[in-house]
Amino acid sequence: MDSIILPSMDNNKLPLSNLHIQGSISLSNLALASSDFGNFIHRSPQAFIQPASVDELAATIHYAEASSSGLTVAARGNGHSISGQAQACDGLVIDMRSLRGIEVCLGEVSYVEACGGELWIDVLKACLREGYAPPSWPDYLYITVGGTLQNAGVGGQTFKYGPVISNVLQLEVVTGRGEFCTCSPTSNKELFFAMLGGLGQFGIVTKARILLVRAPEKVRWIRMVYDDVGKFTRDQELLINLHVDNAEEGFDYVEGFVVCNTDDPVNGWGQVPFTSAEMQRFDVLASLPPRTTNPFLYCLEVAKHYPSSLHAQSRHSMDEVVEALQRKLGYIPELTFNRDVAYLEFLNRVHAQEQMLRELGMWQAPHPWLCLFVPKSDILALHKVMFLQTNLTNGVGGPMHMYPMLKIKWISHASVVTPEAEVFYLVSLLRFNFPPPRGPKAERLLLENNNILGLLQRANISFKTFDPLAILAPGQSIFARQNSHCLKALSSVT
Ligand SMILES: Cc1cc2nc3c(=O)[nH]c(=O)nc-3n(C[C@H](O)[C@H](O)[C@H](O)COP(=O)(O)OP(=O)(O)OC[C@H]3O[C@@H](n4cnc5c(N)ncnc54)[C@H](O)[C@@H]3O)c2cc1C
Repeated sequence: MDSIILPSMDNNKLPLSNLHIQGSISLSNLALASSDFGNFIHRSPQAFIQPASVDELAATIHYAEASSSGLTVAARGNGHSISGQAQACDGLVIDMRSLRGIEVCLGEVSYVEACGGELWIDVLKACLREGYAPPSWPDYLYITVGGTLQNAGVGGQTFKYGPVISNVLQLEVVTGRGEFCTCSPTSNKELFFAMLGGLGQFGIVTKARILLVRAPEKVRWIRMVYDDVGKFTRDQELLINLHVDNAEEGFDYVEGFVVCNTDDPVNGWGQVPFTSAEMQRFDVLASLPPRTTNPFLYCLEVAKHYPSSLHAQSRHSMDEVVEALQRKLGYIPELTFNRDVAYLEFLNRVHAQEQMLRELGMWQAPHPWLCLFVPKSDILALHKVMFLQTNLTNGVGGPMHMYPMLKIKWISHASVVTPEAEVFYLVSLLRFNFPPPRGPKAERLLLENNNILGLLQRANISFKTFDPLAILAPGQSIFARQNSHCLKALSSVT
């Protein structure tokens, strides 16, 4: 199976002649609306609609609501879902990228108002022009504001500021009834909380108001290597907790990933250094006893913001601050790598990898990613089962994340589902391969994911699949209506 193309049911088709909008209604050019980053589920809609205004978006939903044929509607952001979440089999897909606009408002509380179809990279650039930025970010900036808010928006700042959804002040939404509503934690709050992490089930975000803070001009970006998972997780937890008591200023960004203990440039040590010359530092491993037994190393990735130019701090004092923090940590001293980069370059760091992967054809291949939230109490057991009892010793062709966050930083009452634990980890296998036949078929990788989940269940390890990357749930649909033949076809995949 390279991909699954679900058939259209002609008898469900409507002429759409009663939908009067200035924007475009495409009935034939449906390739984009039938695909996503996951690239293993393809469902063809009846039409791909680019509304010219929020009113036209609402009119499209009214139209679907009034249809008697079970017409479904899906908003499509930038289509970076994994398993068809932004597709609508025989339904209508709305191109949210057609509604654009970003406004930065500085005041007592500074915020940015961005249309749901705006990409984070454009939001960031607009905010940085004023010296501000939202405090919390996903790792990848070429996804839309509206699409991200349906999940959570998790990244290395989540431990400190919560996920992106924790930093939303207000939303403008077109509901499943085609009604336009403004909602916030104090007005229409039921809708507001339902929308955050709501998987697109409660309405379409047309605009989001997001908190801004002063942005640093540059950051110190540091990677440290561990050969012991116990020390690695202990240090990650120590760093994320520094902020809780406010006892001490810690790092501004904390992530971590598992690395194969080989010189492989993609899955092994090559993931860690910032320059190829730094690779030779891994020679030190030959003199460390654990190297012989552990097939994995662990990379703690952190960043520290340089204070804004108003309170300029010398490079020397940044060195002191970082060294004081590093003294608490149990990484292999020879294996620390750092560089200073502009804030924009740091937040947009995945883009350079995207360009490389596109050239190799790997960006376009199927991506059956697996992404889990795991309570802290189960993380070492998960490591043993997931990494040591499976064939992950050769890696997955992309990052294998493992980093903790604090429940207290997550907005309460929102739809998003997280473990019942004060500290829980994001664990993800972001698979990148050549497309078949050079690379493995998606079916084989999905089976591997299912085997891992089966092993975790049998070992009583609790986890929650994080839906943006989930491979088990069939595509979300905005409303309860589903065409039964689409569900039937999908159930054979998952
Ligand atoms: C390379 C890559 C890196 C990623 N990194 C991260 C990361 O670091 N952190 C993280 O949290 N996630 C990450 N993700 C996952 C990503 O956040 C989700 O896949 C997100 O949904 C993608 O946004 P999108 O704009 O492409 O949405 P789409 O895939 O287009 O849509 C996703 C869902 O949201 C709905 N939707 C889209 N727009 C709207 C709207 N305006 N209103 C209501 N519903 C809407 C769709 O119907 C669909 O159900 C990553 C994904 C990729 C491919």
